[in-house]
Amino acid sequence: MQIKNLIQQLEWHTVRRWSTRELSGIRKIIFHQELGDSTIEQVNSYHIKPNHISPRGCPHFAYHYGIRKNGEIIQANELSQITWHTKGENSHGIGIMLVGNFKGNGNEDATDDPTDKQIKSAEELANYLIDVFKLSKQDVFGHYQFGKPVCPGFKMQEWIENFRNDISEIKDIIKIKKTVKEIQKRLNSLGYAAGPVDDMMGVRTRYAIRRFQTDNLLETDGIVGPQTWKKLLLLTQNG
Ligand SMILES: [Zn+2]
Repeated sequence: MQIKNLIQQLEWHTVRRWSTRELSGIRKIIFHQELGDSTIEQVNSYHIKPNHISPRGCPHFAYHYGIRKNGEIIQANELSQITWHTKGENSHGIGIMLVGNFKGNGNEDATDDPTDKQIKSAEELANYLIDVFKLSKQDVFGHYQFGKPVCPGFKMQEWIENFRNDISEIKDIIKIKKTVKEIQKRLNSLGYAAGPVDDMMGVRTRYAIRRFQTDNLLETDGIVGPQTWKKLLLLTQNG
């Protein structure tokens, strides 16, 4: 997989710049479609002028990556930059836009679908980012899951559902028996100070679970259910 870096080459807003974040805060990968028939360069020009996203214009192309119809992957922003692609998810999300005007909910009349090369690049890029940021396939989403039904369209939506439901990556580690001892050992290795590994669910262990859940955007209930257990296993796979 090749990623072409156009962060500098694509024109920037005259004065506006993105806020930034720690890379450790990245939790989600979110796919989008362009909903148009322009190039990445043209979308960039649109984004940096007054537009529907911001009356003053955005600092730059509003996604981290764009994928052209020929499958070429363009990086448009640093991953430490908080771009404006998904309301409520930008501080921890990576935004990826596929060029095109795809059929989707509310856009049934469109005639376009993502190309096979675009989907192949989307999959390679998602797998690469999962690896770099220690995410899981369940951390890959479409904008439709955050209130925009048309984005990224029927074909990508189907691909996302299939990708998210592939549990082959976790079926080996999920066999590990969930005991309090195992939970404590793993929380401690991540620096959550669950206390001595005594197999007892005490106050410190419960507090460590809640902090782990908060940090990983899981429901903060202090209970190690399937989602919390899976995340804990994924983050402690090699230790
Ligand atoms: Zn979108």
